Amino acid sequence: MRPDAGAAESMGWHLACTRCGRAVPFGPRVTGCAACAAGGVVGLLECVRPDGPAPARATTAGRSMARYRHLLPVPPALDWVSLGEGDTALIRSRHIGPRLGLPDLHFKLEQQNPTLSFKDRYVALTVNLARYFGFRRVVVSSTGNLGVSVAAYAAAAGMACRFVAPRDVPAGILAEAALHGAEVEIVEKERRFARFEALAREPQWFPVGLFMNRAVQNPFGIEAYRTFAYEMIEALGRPPDAVLFPCARGNGLYGAWKGFRDAAEWGWADRTPQMVGCQPTVANSMEASLAAGSPTAIALPPADSVARSICETVTGDKALGAIRESGGTAASAGDDRIIAAVLALGREGINAEAGAATTVACLETLVRDGRIRPGTVVVCVLTGAGHRWPEQAAWATAAPG
Ligand SMILES: [Zn+2]
Repeated sequence: MRPDAGAAESMGWHLACTRCGRAVPFGPRVTGCAACAAGGVVGLLECVRPDGPAPARATTAGRSMARYRHLLPVPPALDWVSLGEGDTALIRSRHIGPRLGLPDLHFKLEQQNPTLSFKDRYVALTVNLARYFGFRRVVVSSTGNLGVSVAAYAAAAGMACRFVAPRDVPAGILAEAALHGAEVEIVEKERRFARFEALAREPQWFPVGLFMNRAVQNPFGIEAYRTFAYEMIEALGRPPDAVLFPCARGNGLYGAWKGFRDAAEWGWADRTPQMVGCQPTVANSMEASLAAGSPTAIALPPADSVARSICETVTGDKALGAIRESGGTAASAGDDRIIAAVLALGREGINAEAGAATTVACLETLVRDGRIRPGTVVVCVLTGAGHRWPEQAAWATAAPG
């Protein structure tokens, strides 16, 4: 830990174990709760913000996520390295919304982030903190957007980056990471997490990514997703009635929920939205867990979907809890409908990746079965760009009409 890490503690944030509740001082802790580990179990650490009166809203300096740094676990002395992350546009749907009886349907365009996806929020906070803590190297294991984002932010921050990539990661993604100077290490899929964790335990390597039940995990990045809530409330003048997120683990949904909860607590909003998790039908851990009434996420067999970025076997317990706490729900869509949603967004002028378009695919179902009511204010978070996935271009040319 660097000598001035005391400054980090003085801003009032601390870490707490989500399993045993033990509080831990704020600092570069990436191997979970030591007390739980001593008992042979994994306890995730999570950032806890200070109690107290409502803080000031966003500063007006600049137009990036750093406007909200005083609402995030960011020490005042941290010299924020920005690539212009966050502060993405919220635009009203011109075609899909009116067709569904939702004139107040909005799209949050996360492809406007510097490396084309919402991961830049998570990564900007994590890499900046790693640099502040005195680390010189970051390691990431990813199948797509996260790896490119970490490579770019490491480059901007003057840090080295190792990208541990399973063998099936598309060559274009590895090339993008290499462009930013990342060292790409190809591993067999099943060795991916073990290799990532081994590197993260070496001195000087800071792990970016993961907020799941594993021994190595980074508790910081997810806090950046609070800014989704602050930005939406600022843009709409109120919280939406429902927010649809494409979900693998659901970190984005959970982080955004924390932000909406904060805003209500601080009196910035008189309500919180329903949080809605959207997944491919073959990877609908959220729907399955809610249907079964399971307090923890149910794991499903591995599967494939065109929505590659959100096709995981199991979702996150925290995201599941956020859906329940918000009075929200989960939905899923098959590949045909996800492809149709990509094309429908294309006709709105938006090139979204299939994972992101899953929200739009699920929206139709939710309206049809009455879970989303006509005339309500709805936001679909379009987490990433279609440009990174060249196979999507072929869907339009193959489609009739
Ligand atoms: Zn613990």
